[in-house]
Amino acid sequence: MILNDDQRAIRDIARRFAREKLLPHYQAREKSGVLDRRLLREMGELGLLGADLPETYGGLGLAGTTIGVIAEELAYGDFNISAVQVGVSLLGAIIMASARPELVAKYVPAMIAGEKLLGICVTEPSGGSDAAAMKLRARRDGDHYVLKGEKTSISFADRADAFIVFARTGTPEQGAAGVTAMMVDADTPGIARTKFDDVGSAIVGRGSVFFEDVRVPLTNRLGEEGQGFSHVMRGFDYSRALIALECIGCAQASLDEAWAYVKEREAFGGPIAKFQGVTFPLVEQESLIAAVRELSYNALALRDAGLPHTAEAAMVKWLGPKTAFDTIHQCLLTFGHYGWSKDLPHQQRMRDVMGLEIGDGTAGIMKLIVARERVGRAAVQYAK
Ligand SMILES: Cc1cc2nc3c(=O)[nH]c(=O)nc-3n(C[C@H](O)[C@H](O)[C@H](O)COP(=O)(O)OP(=O)(O)OC[C@H]3O[C@@H](n4cnc5c(N)ncnc54)[C@H](O)[C@@H]3O)c2cc1C
Repeated sequence: MILNDDQRAIRDIARRFAREKLLPHYQAREKSGVLDRRLLREMGELGLLGADLPETYGGLGLAGTTIGVIAEELAYGDFNISAVQVGVSLLGAIIMASARPELVAKYVPAMIAGEKLLGICVTEPSGGSDAAAMKLRARRDGDHYVLKGEKTSISFADRADAFIVFARTGTPEQGAAGVTAMMVDADTPGIARTKFDDVGSAIVGRGSVFFEDVRVPLTNRLGEEGQGFSHVMRGFDYSRALIALECIGCAQASLDEAWAYVKEREAFGGPIAKFQGVTFPLVEQESLIAAVRELSYNALALRDAGLPHTAEAAMVKWLGPKTAFDTIHQCLLTFGHYGWSKDLPHQQRMRDVMGLEIGDGTAGIMKLIVARERVGRAAVQYAK
């Protein structure tokens, strides 16, 4: 994608922040396991969070393609910090589209400022892919819902300030039509949270959220009762393309480091860059990364133009994390025995991007979505 002047300006801000503030401490942050809220506030001040959301709430009203540019740049410095930015745009859009004005005013400006961190609770212990079969119960009691059950595998579970929670208000037979979404503050009585010991993304902190008779005002509902599922699905087309660009940005960092290394490292009397057995695998990955990048921006451009982009977003959501993982793996090998050391960031980047081969929908589910876009319901005959 060729950037316009405005996109270049915000790219330069994101790039400077990512390379000066994020990249040098990417590995130290993993060791600490702490999500430094000061970084989020700094991103808020720089206009890097929720830049697509309306100016009245503190955003900049920018296009989705520009949000992709920011995601790619931030992920170059720290894949996990870019997850916060993608989350603000995804969840901010869901809230804007369906919450009462008082709720929008309570959450969206604080998210854009980097003051409030939100999580989204869809997955349950019994399953994530078949999200419409969720069981967490929301029973009506006067002017409140009462939540009972467990959500699991939730990003930012133990550190979010609030959650968008999807719960069953209808019967199990209603499937997706019986699901309602609502805003729930993390300090509401009856909520308990855990943190998992994950393969990667330590500062995101994935875990379970338990709801024991948690009372949520009906006014916290997003959209109408039973419409929760359609809201989240619409938003995911957007975040899938952004996630692919996060993965591309992260892989590009390893590629750039590998290109620099092959010019310096010597073997058999000269730099290893003279061996095509060294450079061609990097060229192959650079080519694949470039292709996924363009397809991702195409999905975002279609969204910005109000055109369908479900298939394109699902394509890059499976291809992006996989291509990034393969690329970083190749870079790790290029560094020889140094690559195998935890002193270098490639192993961490590989572990971090791998999470998004599962999170936000697995490759299998993405391929199912593309097939459904091509042949319709015949692709999912078994679905309820
Ligand atoms: C890093 C990370 C972050 C996450 N963050 C969140 C979050 O913030 N909020 C949240 O709600 N969830 C989150 N999740 C959970 C994630 O959305 C689910 O793990 C995912 O949807 C898959 O669900 P599952 O793990 O229950 O696998 P299952 O649904 O049990 O699937 C198991 C396997 O079977 C395959 N499979 C299942 N059905 C089909 C089918 N019809 N066709 C082909 N293959 C199929 C899947 O691809 C998978 O490989 C996160 C997960 C990870 C790893």
